Amino acid sequence: MFNRICIIGYGLIGSSIARVIRRDRLAETLVCVDGSEAVCRRVLDLGIADKATTDPAEGVVDCDLVILAVPVGAYESVARAIAPALAQGAVVTDVGSVKQAVIAAVQPHLPAHVQFVPSHPIAGTEHSGPDAGFAELFVNRWAIVTPLPDSDIKAVEKITKLWEACGSRIEIMEPRRHDLTLAITSHLPHLIAYTIVGTATDLEEHMKDDVIKFSASGFRDFTRIAASDPVMWRDIFMNNREAVLEIVQRFNEDLTALQRAIRWGDGDQLQAMFTRTRDIRRRVIEAGQADSPHKSPA
Ligand code: NAP
Repeated sequence: MFNRICIIGYGLIGSSIARVIRRDRLAETLVCVDGSEAVCRRVLDLGIADKATTDPAEGVVDCDLVILAVPVGAYESVARAIAPALAQGAVVTDVGSVKQAVIAAVQPHLPAHVQFVPSHPIAGTEHSGPDAGFAELFVNRWAIVTPLPDSDIKAVEKITKLWEACGSRIEIMEPRRHDLTLAITSHLPHLIAYTIVGTATDLEEHMKDDVIKFSASGFRDFTRIAASDPVMWRDIFMNNREAVLEIVQRFNEDLTALQRAIRWGDGDQLQAMFTRTRDIRRRVIEAGQADSPHKSPA
């Protein structure tokens, strides 16, 4: 499929793509770039790259595909670093959980002779690093591709094929719609989880013990989500600010309505709301998105 691929950022997502590329021999040569020497050494030990370097410019030389898989806040510096070294006709993609901010950070730095096709796999776990990755991560999950208005159709096809090779289903979407959709399906749930677990952390010591002890009553599901990588999630909220704030505003209004229903003893309103949400669960199951062996993608 490709001659030489470079993946920059060999964490959960980068190393999972690398394992697919290795397994299915999608490239002659696979190059790892990671900011950490230890990660580079580990990647070579794991056999999921032919070569590893901490220098992004060195890593992308002669590559026909470059996959950016660093935390959202690092895309701009990586784009700056690789720009002068990118090969003529290379396709660059990313996996960032926010699209408008990543496009704004990357696109201006790339030379005209490369094609940038942003994407985002809706698959993940709460674990990080090269050991956390696995080739099946993307199977039957959506990969959202958000081409730019001037993206070359052939480049878009190459990225689509890459995600199909990973086992993903493809959705082409406009970046703004992506960011709003993910604000409700992913970013708000994480914000709520971080808040609930934070509130519990602030409770008195004896209460905290009870919280842990009886966590199976619902709390534990939030603790799993709130165990997600702090840097990654800091960057997501810093970079999808507008969409997240809009969704949080709506959430606050709905929460206030429920609060009022509880205070006024309005059981009908509570029951009507909980019936509506049960229906959403049924539709999620029907859409094949309910099984969560991989848990809480960003
Ligand atoms: P991760 O496991 O933390 O891996 C990120 C890797 O990138 C780390 O090895 C990190 O090294 C390295 N890195 C950071 N800054 C770098 C830089 N400037 N140059 C080179 N390497 C750098 O993160 P991840 O979960 O794979 O997430 C990567 C991207 O995928 C993010 O953009 C995220 O939004 C997106 N994404 C994540 C999920 C998810 O659920 N996890 C799902 C879909 C998309 P250090 O550890 O040494 O900093």
